[in-house]
Amino acid sequence: MAKIQMTTPLVEMDGDEMTRVLWQIIKDELIYPFIDLKSEYYDLGLEHRNETNDQVTIDSAEATKKYGVAVKCATITPNAARVKEYNLKEMWKSPNGTIRAVLDGTVFRAPIIVKGIEPYVKNWTKPITIARHAYGDVYKGVEMKVPGPGKAELVFTGEDGTVQKETIYDFKEPGIIQGMHNRSKSIESFARSCFNYALDTKQSVWFATKDTISKKYDHTFKDIFREVFEKDYKEKFDAAGIEYFYTLIDDVVARVIRSNGGYIWACKNYDGDVMSDMLATAYGSLAMMTSVLVSPEGYYEYEAAHGTVQRHYYQHLEGKETSTNSVATIFAWSGALRKRGQLDDNKELVEFANKLEKATIDTIESGIMTKDLKAITTDPNAKQVNSKDFIKAIRSRLEA
Ligand code: NAP
Ligand code: MG
Repeated sequence: MAKIQMTTPLVEMDGDEMTRVLWQIIKDELIYPFIDLKSEYYDLGLEHRNETNDQVTIDSAEATKKYGVAVKCATITPNAARVKEYNLKEMWKSPNGTIRAVLDGTVFRAPIIVKGIEPYVKNWTKPITIARHAYGDVYKGVEMKVPGPGKAELVFTGEDGTVQKETIYDFKEPGIIQGMHNRSKSIESFARSCFNYALDTKQSVWFATKDTISKKYDHTFKDIFREVFEKDYKEKFDAAGIEYFYTLIDDVVARVIRSNGGYIWACKNYDGDVMSDMLATAYGSLAMMTSVLVSPEGYYEYEAAHGTVQRHYYQHLEGKETSTNSVATIFAWSGALRKRGQLDDNKELVEFANKLEKATIDTIESGIMTKDLKAITTDPNAKQVNSKDFIKAIRSRLEA
């Protein structure tokens, strides 16, 4: 059979540890046999980031702006232990943070629902899509340790020299402070991404912050969402029969648990980080969630929502068999290939992406699955397989 041809390359961002191992197997078993893959390869593995002083991460984000679609493997965000383990020159920043700072935008995460894996929250019959603002707040924060008594102030000096000043705290003892920011434009594009995605998928948008406590910072998010909605989306939402609903963050978590799903939950950057892991786990597994960063200019970066699965990697290094779930990484590939196909008007590529996802879901529904799913499935005949055999089982289906 002739392989599917591509016209424009994908930006391929390789990563670390167990997901790097899966990345290669996925390419060998599920991509190369079917597609004449055109990709511009960037090695975001920690060793190479260290060698290039992290320039490779910036280059890969810039390439995403050039080509429009990227697929990313999970990567290590170094901490003190990693600096030692990899003998790093510096504690390099989170690659996802760096890429998101270049591309701006919103990350959409939705559970991959399969028969036999029931959500822990039994009334969640439909997927909940998290829309995570991918710019600013604590991820672009600056922090200080306060060594002892003294006054901490928040100062803004305008270009014209005008100064705004607030006292943060009059310290009588050691402590900590933090400064963070966001940009009105980024918040506006976050709102627009959510409302556009809602119209595309015919789902309502729920948004929540802590505006009662954070009367300027969070309140600005609330105000911008409201303005953008009233101005450009209200009529379209009415026509589509969907709604925009705003409430407080603590109220929304209670409503989410009581709901049936089927809406987009817009979250500020930190809320989205925390809540997407909660949601993924509650729907079954961290590895059963898709994740895509959509920039305001329409660039797309597909990734898995989980990390590099370090514990499994060390077992793999010891020569032990692993049963790591590759579904989210496979869906990162299928998502990127589908989007590439849509942008290039390449029907074969779009069809392949659909078939790859179907083969993956059918494999699990036929009872072949990795350890994390075997532990929670309602299928009494389910069979646990190792990391590689799971991908091979998908390949057999895809070939059939
Ligand atoms: P993790 O890699 O997501 O793994 C945490 C645990 O969740 C695993 O030990 C495993 O549980 C389970 N798990 C996650 N993904 C799984 C999969 N595909 N299949 C089966 N089980 C899975 O998080 P972490 O261990 O906290 O972080 C490891 C590294 O990943 C860190 O260096 C962190 O910086 C990085 N990270 C990267 C990203 C990203 O690039 N997007 C996101 C988060 C974290 P069991 O061990 O119980 O089987
Ligand atoms: Mg996270």
